[in-house]
Order: sequence, then structure tokens, then C-alpha cells
Amino acid sequence: MIYHTIKELREAYHSSATTPIKYITELLSVIDSMDKDNQSLVRINRDCALLAIENLPDDKSLPLWGIPCLIKDNILVEGLEVNAQSRILKGYKASYTSDVAQSLIDAGAIIIGYTNMDEFAFGSSTEYSGYGQVTKNASDQSRVAGGTSGGSAVAVALNLVPFALGTDTGGSVRQPASFNGVFGLRPTYGAVSRYGVIASASSFDQVGPIANSIEDLELVYEVLKGKKKYDQTSIDIDPKTKSDKIRIGVCKEFVTNLDDQVEEKFKSLISKLSTEYELVDISLPHTKYILPVYYILQTVEASSNLERFDQIRFASTTEINSKDDLYFGPRALELGDEVKRRIMLGTYTSSAGYYDAYYNQACKVRKIIQDEYAKAFELVDVLLMPACPFPAWKIGEKSLDPMAMYTADIMTVSQPIAKLPALIIPLSKDGQLPVGLQIVGEEKSDKTLIDIAKQIEKQYSKSN
Ligand code: GLN
Repeated sequence: MIYHTIKELREAYHSSATTPIKYITELLSVIDSMDKDNQSLVRINRDCALLAIENLPDDKSLPLWGIPCLIKDNILVEGLEVNAQSRILKGYKASYTSDVAQSLIDAGAIIIGYTNMDEFAFGSSTEYSGYGQVTKNASDQSRVAGGTSGGSAVAVALNLVPFALGTDTGGSVRQPASFNGVFGLRPTYGAVSRYGVIASASSFDQVGPIANSIEDLELVYEVLKGKKKYDQTSIDIDPKTKSDKIRIGVCKEFVTNLDDQVEEKFKSLISKLSTEYELVDISLPHTKYILPVYYILQTVEASSNLERFDQIRFASTTEINSKDDLYFGPRALELGDEVKRRIMLGTYTSSAGYYDAYYNQACKVRKIIQDEYAKAFELVDVLLMPACPFPAWKIGEKSLDPMAMYTADIMTVSQPIAKLPALIIPLSKDGQLPVGLQIVGEEKSDKTLIDIAKQIEKQYSKSN
């Protein structure tokens, strides 16, 4: 018996239909075969999981008591190998536990292993692991999982676990959630601590849950959120009061050039919602700059973050025989093409001669985009948009074309630019490829966003 949601599994534990040791031992014996075709997992930590069950406090009221989960391969747990799917980190064992993993453990969750991702969370398809593992879409194995948290989204869609953690820099929780028909949340920047999460681009990165229901997203978010000592950007958020009449904004810049299936699903949802909610047309004219702004700022921050992987302190599989080997060998040999591209782009656009033309300029436009969204949220409570202009594409279709891969992020980079929370609700339930609806909230309105998403989902499910 497989339980799809945290709620169902909690009920099963409460009614003694099963126990954590029974359920998780069984799960561990079948999980590899359940994942054989899709390849969403990179490491299952059996002994560690069993030890965690043994040490589980006898307190069933803990919100995630005995709930098995998976985490992305960039989230540290002391003593466990973590790679961010880069060969430069092969064999690296974490020397401390991230805040998010600690919060899960304190809430009673059992972390059973790690999921696949694009190397250092650069990509949009989970085809760029440094080890060559490509995760396949849960609904159609000839298609990509989405990325970079493709492993976590597929694992949840396949019901290996009721929830998994991903990280979202420019869409990596939301786009794979959308491609695999599951729910995903990117919290407000800072709502969840990044301490112990291998950095991609520090002013964008957020950890977020992927699950099979909004209630489960909410439960995990509540466990993760809050100001923590070692992340100075982490914050506590006071819940905002929700307006009585919910106003929903639809931005015209995000409803053009959509694939037919996405357009049809999105428009039919909007027409259903129009009977119940006030719909407001919104324009965000600076949307045309979001991709360049994102890819300038993301690569600058990424190239700076990656400096630390010098191969003196991190394990290497490359033989070092000379000083030149040490300086030039490992990074050239052990970092993937996309990682090197980001290092070069980011180093160039932040270099002394080009700083003003690119990095500085992008910072200014970021502020304008933030202000534009803040103005929009004076008129509406949430904004609706697709998560991607098209459903999951075929494996290999974009992997050799970086520009095609970058432009596929058009629906998911502006929210991190503006530090906004956003949530994905799956829309397809009719055998078509999954398509997700993206609901975007004002900064620090995470709780309100979740409440509105619940209402929209209820209405949508009723009418289907
Ligand atoms: N596709 C985006 C990028 O490659 C976002 C990745 C992410 O969110 N980690 O930067």
C-alpha cells in the first residue's frame, strides 16, 4: 500500500494501519525498482533512514512524524554524501546539517535519500547532471523531467514519497512540478533559510517543497519557514490579512506565445474563475527584460559562489601531478559545460571593464521590475500565469542549445527577481501532458497565497 499524501500516511499511523518502521522498510526494499525507468534518485541512505526511525521520538503529534521524504542533492545532512550532481564534489561528505534538513528531522520526517538535479542547479530539464544521469518525466519517459529539481518532482509524481524538497533559483521547483503534475511552492525570498544549501545564486535561491496536495505543501512550508541564526537573509513573516473579495490579476505579457495545450488550459481556467472572482488585466512592461536581467545576475552570483570549489579542499577524481594540474586540471575536467558557461558569463559581466554596462545595469532594472510588481499588487491579491509556455519537451531537444533552454524560463524568473512567492497547481487530469497553473503572491504573502491557491484548486477540481 502506497500513501500519496502526508495526510493519508499520518492517518494510517494514527489508526495503526501501519508504522514508520514497517512502511519505510517496505518502501526501501522497492524504491529502486519503482524508480528504475525514471531515474529520479541518486542516493538512498538506507542505514541512516533506519537509524532515524529508531531514534524517532515517541510523539505522534510532530507534524511530519515518520513521514519519508527525499531531498535534492544540494542540501547538506551531516555525514551524508552530497554532490549537487557535480563531479568536483564526488565523495564530499557534509560536515554539518542544513537548517531545512534539521527542521525536517525535528518535525519527525525521515530523510531517505537524495534526488537528481542539474549540476549546481543550472539548467531547466535535469539533463545536466555531471554524472550523466537524465531523469525522465513521470508522465512520458521520452520527455524531460523539467529542472533543476526534476528528481524531486518525478519522485513525488511517482509516489515514491509524499513530499520532497527542491530548490528554486529561477523556477527549479515550479517548472518541474508543472511538468510532472504535482504541487510546488517557491516561498518568499528569505522565508526559508539557505544555510547548508549549496549555493547557486544567493540572492535568488530558495528551498521549496514539492507534494501531492496544497495542504501538504503548507504543512512542510510551516515546518521549514522562519528566521534562523546562520542565514542573515532569513526572515520571519507575519501573516497578512486577506481581502474579503479576492482580486486576481492576469498579466498580458505572460499569456502570449503559448503552446495550444497550455493556452487552452489556462484560458478555460480563467473563464471558470471569472464567475467567482474579480479578474483584473495587468501589464508588466519590463517583462521583456527579465531574461537578460536574470541571466546576468544569476551568472555573476554563480561564478562568485563557484570560486570556492578549488579542488584543494574538495575531493578530486583527477590525478594531480603538477602545479598546473592543480590550477587548471580539475575545474576544466570536472565541471560540466553549462557550469563553465555560467562562470565565464558571470566573470565577464562583473569584470572591471563591463561591470557598469551589465551587472550594475541589471541591478537597476531588477529594482524597476520589483517596483512594477509592487504596483500590480496594489490592484490585485494574486497574479495568475502558466509555469512555462509549453509542456515538457523531448529529451535532447534543447540540451545542446543554451539559448533555447534559457528562454524556456520566461515564466519563472521574474518572481525570484522580485523576491515573490509562487505556487504551482497541476491542471491536466485528462491523460494529456501535465500543465501547471502558477499563482504568484506579493512579497511575504506566503500564507495568503496558499489560502487563495486552496480556494482556486477547490473550484477548479469541482468544475472538472
Ligand atoms: N533554469 C534556471 C537557471 O538555469 C533556473 C534554475 C534554478 O532555479 N535552479 O538558472
